[in-house]
Amino acid sequence: MDTKTGKNAMRGKLVVGNWKMNGGLAANAALLGEIASGWTRPAGRELAVCVPSPYLVQAQAALSSTPIAWGAQDVSEHAAGAYTGEVSAGMLVEFGCRYAIVGHSERRANFCDSDGVVAAKAKAALLKGIVPIVCVGETLAEREAGTTEAVVLRQIDAVLDKVGQDASRMVVAYEPVWAIGTGRTATPVEAQAVHATLRVRLARSGAVNVPLLYGGSVKADNAQALFGMADIDGGLIGGASLKSTEFLAIAHA
Ligand code: PEP
Repeated sequence: MDTKTGKNAMRGKLVVGNWKMNGGLAANAALLGEIASGWTRPAGRELAVCVPSPYLVQAQAALSSTPIAWGAQDVSEHAAGAYTGEVSAGMLVEFGCRYAIVGHSERRANFCDSDGVVAAKAKAALLKGIVPIVCVGETLAEREAGTTEAVVLRQIDAVLDKVGQDASRMVVAYEPVWAIGTGRTATPVEAQAVHATLRVRLARSGAVNVPLLYGGSVKADNAQALFGMADIDGGLIGGASLKSTEFLAIAHA
């Protein structure tokens, strides 16, 4: 434990870019090249990008000789079969993915990913050795109703019940829905309060050292304050991960 920051040195520090449905071959080549050459790999820190599935092969080619990991933005709960449009964890393994985001609020809201589906996706990823980045977070209405804690605990409990002791191999991202892509960030104190609640719940499942990321309008100028909080181990970065200088500044914060 670092006595100044209260941070546990056992936990990995991780910054992950979520490109969402953005990119193109030429733009990706430039972005991946800039990130690879600008990442100084400070001790104990990891950097990763989660790209649209068609670009996994490009990410693999560009990053496999670098310390930067890559992953997908979703994964099927099924292993194989008649699931048109889905991508399985086994397929992601073939493209060298270390991570798969599951339960992003955009998928929960727009693609009906329920708590049960998110849990099944996390399990499917873990079964193939892929680290699920499990996203949880409340809407503005839920925050204003005072139910933030109940919502994030319901979301994380669904996953913990499903994956059992494999929970220690996950990453969790707290992403308040009202902060995603809005420019409105949770204050470090607001974010830390939710992270502390999640940490207690994860500890009960033997997963106390799981990296707990914050996501929601993280920028170079607010990253350091957020990442300095005791239970915030890094970030899941959307819009700012599409600009190499901004993303690298966040990753080095
Ligand atoms: C995200 O999409 O996970 C996210 C945090 O987006 P943004 O950083 O743009 O708010």
